[in-house]
Amino acid sequence: MDTSKSKFATKAIHGGLEPDPATGAIMTPIYQTSTYIQDGVGNHQGYEYSRTLNPTRDALEKNLAAIENGNYGACFGSGLAAIDAVIKMLHPGDEVISTNDLYGGSYRIFKTIFEKYGIVFRFTSMANPTDVEALVNENTKLIWAETPTNPMMNIIDIEALAIISKKNNILLAVDNTFATPYLQRPLDLGADIVMHSATKYLGGHSDVVMGALVMKDEKVAKEIYRIQNSSGAVTGPMDSFLVLRGIKTLHLRVQRHCENGSRIAHWLRKQPSVATVYWPGFEDHPNHAVAKRQMDDFGGMISFTLKGNKMEDAHRILGKVKLFSLAESLGGVESLIGHPATMTHASIPKEDREKSGVVDSLIRLSVGVEDADDLIKDLEQALK
Ligand SMILES: *Cc1c(COP(=O)(O)O)cnc(C)c1O
Repeated sequence: MDTSKSKFATKAIHGGLEPDPATGAIMTPIYQTSTYIQDGVGNHQGYEYSRTLNPTRDALEKNLAAIENGNYGACFGSGLAAIDAVIKMLHPGDEVISTNDLYGGSYRIFKTIFEKYGIVFRFTSMANPTDVEALVNENTKLIWAETPTNPMMNIIDIEALAIISKKNNILLAVDNTFATPYLQRPLDLGADIVMHSATKYLGGHSDVVMGALVMKDEKVAKEIYRIQNSSGAVTGPMDSFLVLRGIKTLHLRVQRHCENGSRIAHWLRKQPSVATVYWPGFEDHPNHAVAKRQMDDFGGMISFTLKGNKMEDAHRILGKVKLFSLAESLGGVESLIGHPATMTHASIPKEDREKSGVVDSLIRLSVGVEDADDLIKDLEQALK
């Protein structure tokens, strides 16, 4: 359905989707097939082999393009496989500028996979766009941003980066996993590529691992599709179905994530054992003004540190929570609690992680959509 003039909730439910042409089924069927019978040589209905194109994945890719206000979507076996595809557009000697409190897995693929193929990665705090511009040279081909960042909840000004990237003919990619397109649409702000770990809010139910890219420009999209088909890190039809279904309630879930997140962030700030709470909705967050401009609300991801900054204190809290589950990942309906220094960011050297604020007592919450009173009660008994 053409939803280009519709609002977000309509796009989430109908964007890019048509009733199944064979049966009229309202839900996109799970086309669990690897190949498609051809009437004669070269005479097929658009589908030849499911690595290249599968109707369930195709429907999801169109739906993703609709909700990100892009023209082309591409799905991958994981968020990291999606990042892998973007970096494969580059050549040895090309340079990438990225943020120094990047998602740990993104840092790992840059440093341990692509650096040895001659791609150069430069890291800076992107909170101030002039620091990014200072690293641009004639080899810079890509700016890789993530906002809000994980786990420090720094906010990066996407529009400011888009101005720098356009001026210097550099691609701008934004990891939009934390914000979701319901809260933030980087393509509208001038980015060339939006990336998602669909494992998180898009899927939303902690039952699938998937990555996605959305693009506006045909040339960029063609290159991504070439890499998607050539490297083959595609997602299967069952997983595509699950994420399609997840997206239909994305706006409803994220509304509640935001409400619960706001309540818990404000409550945490008043607790005597808590040192600092990181959440972009606070007016004294260093880039609150940018967050307010580029996001529609502030989400359910919160990090905080403890007075005394002791790892054992953080570990004790993680052991005492009952409703919050100790687990990696985020963005599902259930609330999760994690310890970046020993979990998601364990692959980053201590010295480097502390520079960006990932200290020993830092705790990260993915606030779910349970009742906020119950979540606060759980944190209260754990912090005691
Ligand atoms: C989880 C995550 C990724 C990686 O995605 P996977 O689906 O786990 O491969 C990338 N960026 C961010 C911000 C994430 O939270």
